[in-house]
Amino acid sequence: MSDITDLSFSELKKALQEKSLSSTEITLAFLERIESLNPELNTFITVTRDEAMRSAKNADTAISRGTATAYTGLPIAHKDLFCTDGVLTTCGSKILSNFVAPYDAHVVSRCKAAGLVSLGKLNMDEFAMGSSNENSYFGPVRNPWDTDRVPGGSSGGSAAAVAAKLTPLATGTDTGGSIRQPAAFTGTSGIKPTYGRVSRFGMIAYASSLDQGGLIAHTAEDLAHGLGLIAGHDSRDSTSAERSVPDYTEVLNGSLKGKVIGLPKQFFDDRLNNSMRDAMDMVLEVFKSLGASVVEISLDHVAEAIPAYYVIAPAEASSNLSRFDGVRFGYRADKPTNLLDLYERSRGEGFGSEVKRRILIGTYALSEGYYDAYYKKAQQIRRLIRDDFNHALASCDLIFGPTTPSTAFVIGEKISDPVSMYLEDIYTVATNMAGLPGGSFQAPMISGLPTGYQLTGPAFGESIILNAAHQIQMATDWHRLNPENF
Ligand code: GLN
Repeated sequence: MSDITDLSFSELKKALQEKSLSSTEITLAFLERIESLNPELNTFITVTRDEAMRSAKNADTAISRGTATAYTGLPIAHKDLFCTDGVLTTCGSKILSNFVAPYDAHVVSRCKAAGLVSLGKLNMDEFAMGSSNENSYFGPVRNPWDTDRVPGGSSGGSAAAVAAKLTPLATGTDTGGSIRQPAAFTGTSGIKPTYGRVSRFGMIAYASSLDQGGLIAHTAEDLAHGLGLIAGHDSRDSTSAERSVPDYTEVLNGSLKGKVIGLPKQFFDDRLNNSMRDAMDMVLEVFKSLGASVVEISLDHVAEAIPAYYVIAPAEASSNLSRFDGVRFGYRADKPTNLLDLYERSRGEGFGSEVKRRILIGTYALSEGYYDAYYKKAQQIRRLIRDDFNHALASCDLIFGPTTPSTAFVIGEKISDPVSMYLEDIYTVATNMAGLPGGSFQAPMISGLPTGYQLTGPAFGESIILNAAHQIQMATDWHRLNPENF
């Protein structure tokens, strides 16, 4: 038998059900692996060892008494922007580096209620702003495939922890690509659900109209199990959708015969490099061999997605982040001379430079006289993008493309060039602008590094995405490849 930590979430679930492993054994195996490998990878900010061992013990008791749920005793770890009652919740920032949340985020409480064992809190770009996980106050996360390279961001800790088998399942959030891009860079599977599918209650806000919680794991099947747990209506989030949650695992085996895959011509133009194009072609061949057909579609306004996103997201961030003032929670500057000095120095010392850049851009875009020229215009573009997607999805079941323009880049390579960093999200942000579900799944490797393909579906069409990705994973081995040293 392979090591416990080699098993996927679904395989661990089976082992618990068959009683070939206990939750205590599983939890201990992951905690030991975290202890030995986290110093090198820096994926966890906090490891909740004692609490994890306690919940594992309770899980084993529940299993032996027959009171367990289907998921009791399985491990998970949370991106450090999900509030966790009594546990440090930093959002990757100095300004929250001493913040112990007084309640659980909706996602966290759903996982607890299902009996999942939380291993700890995962590193991330500060306030989820970034595409490389280099913006964390707690230092960069390293990609297990090549530790000189970034794991992607902002859910870089989540993706690298899954890739290095420090947890079989991790939560993440995706505002412009932060689940899908790191999944692509680390050879993992990630799903960003439809806006409103997963409650944002207790999820520290970056850009509220775009933020959406989701998951990273080894397979689409694992994501289907996890999504069923965290999706669903929550009255504490006014944008939470009042729709029932399907059993995402039930549809995984559906045939792809007759399914239509749309290829946006804007994603496959001459800016896409040859090796990435070849990798995508190989995935498309598998789709075709499973009976799907491929059609060209057009997303006419997708080129405007990045500029519009980088007005809307910072505008919302500048407003959301005004609550961090050194008074109510988090970091407070030493010996303030008056109230203004307290605000200015707490924020000046507490926020990192990328966060400050976003606050400046956002405040500018929202200021009187500029609002119509920037923010309003960006919202108009957003509507056009949404219409493009809905129009395209009338003639296909799923939209296909690369998740990222290239494979994982070297740490430090883009950090001093924000625009080239922002362009990392060129294929992912439009999905958020349209509020649609998107997933990234393992594609063929390029020069020893993972790549991902992206599927975007109709609103609340997560099961269509997971079904398609699962079928591809049943027919290929790309999701089974492991980083050599991990
Ligand atoms: N890289 C994008 C940004 O920095 C997206 C981040 C995200 O999805 N949270 O805003």
